[in-house]
Amino acid sequence: MQKMVMLKYGELSTKKGNIGLFLNTLKENIKGSLKDIDCDIRFDKGRMFILSKEENYEEVTNRLQNIFGIHEIDIVYEIKENKVEKIGQSLLELLKNYEFKTFKVVTKRSDKRYPLTSMEVSRFIGGVLLKNIPEIKVDVHNPDIYVNVEIRNDATYLYFEKIFGIGGYPVGVLGKGLLMLSGGIDSPVAGYMAIKRGVKLEAVYFESPPHTSIEAKNKVISLARKLALYNNDIKLHIINFTEIQEAIYKNIPHEYLITIMRRMMYRISAKIAGNVNAKVLVNGESIGQVASQTLTSMSVINEVVKMPVIRPLACFDKLEIIEIAKKIDTYETSILPFEDCCTIFVPKHPVINPELELCYQYEKLIAYEDLINKALKNQEIMKISATPKNNYADIL
Ligand code: ATP
Ligand code: MG
Repeated sequence: MQKMVMLKYGELSTKKGNIGLFLNTLKENIKGSLKDIDCDIRFDKGRMFILSKEENYEEVTNRLQNIFGIHEIDIVYEIKENKVEKIGQSLLELLKNYEFKTFKVVTKRSDKRYPLTSMEVSRFIGGVLLKNIPEIKVDVHNPDIYVNVEIRNDATYLYFEKIFGIGGYPVGVLGKGLLMLSGGIDSPVAGYMAIKRGVKLEAVYFESPPHTSIEAKNKVISLARKLALYNNDIKLHIINFTEIQEAIYKNIPHEYLITIMRRMMYRISAKIAGNVNAKVLVNGESIGQVASQTLTSMSVINEVVKMPVIRPLACFDKLEIIEIAKKIDTYETSILPFEDCCTIFVPKHPVINPELELCYQYEKLIAYEDLINKALKNQEIMKISATPKNNYADIL
């Protein structure tokens, strides 16, 4: 009997037209995540199988639990047989290692030519177990052990435990997006949610040294590293925003600082997105959270870009966002107290209902096109891996 990991895709199986693309993307993502582990991956339409050495299975299943598109992970034993008598014998052998008083047999047949129905197989197997293992009983409601039998065309798979995967779509299957990643709580959560829907992310961070510290930047790198776990590495574009921010600060009425600053961030983000073939921007904006996130502000800021801006957290409460941040382990990093470029230039009374006409007028006061091009030219790009070889991101 060969031990292996069997994966179920769930939601994917309903995507008939795109199933090939979905499966290939999932397979590539799994390969990427397991690249340093010696294993063999096989797959057919409904299932994927990963074979490795006994000592690797724990690590393999841990990693698979972070890969979107997988709905269930089972440690199975394969027998190249599908006669019920053989299945029964193999189960008796395997169940020697388990202690239980009650059990339930659950059979699934993907081979519809199989001569017995699932119920008949379960009944037969149940009989074999009752006859050969002393003092056990069937309990269909709350058994100590589920005896799962899956009969496929060329083989049968036996397993006793299920691990739930994180679901979603395989990363990259929906193309690429650019995440505006700050050091706050919201944007890493927004990124996670976009990745979960199959969007492969690159990220952009705006820094303003010396007004923002190296610690603030390292914090963003740590957050990117958390996201890299789900995204199969992540490219981070770091934009030096100091000159633009100082020009805004010197020339523009302070109540419009944030509005104009964010319009500049959007412009730069859209250019980076265009360069890397990202189809959408993703950010952590949430309706009403701060002055720049009123509906008027959002529309005035959004006006500078044509591409869609995805705001996964638009309708979430802060407490709901914090809950996800804790679950994906970004919260503790996000609350470290290093100033982000926004917080340093925050005016006392930011405008809540900015006027587009005034934005046009104020923006004429700074040669922002040149400043934007310069910032883009000087950007630093890092490729950040979830498990860096030497604890440092590779600078590209
Ligand atoms: P918080 O959790 O404190 O709200 P935040 O990251 O959401 O932090 P906001 O000022 O609310 O900060 O910014 C809204 C969104 O704009 C962010 O979620 C992020 O997507 C983007 N953003 C803000 N500042 C930056 C920055 N310095 N670099 C990149 N993106 C930024
Ligand atoms: Mg926010």
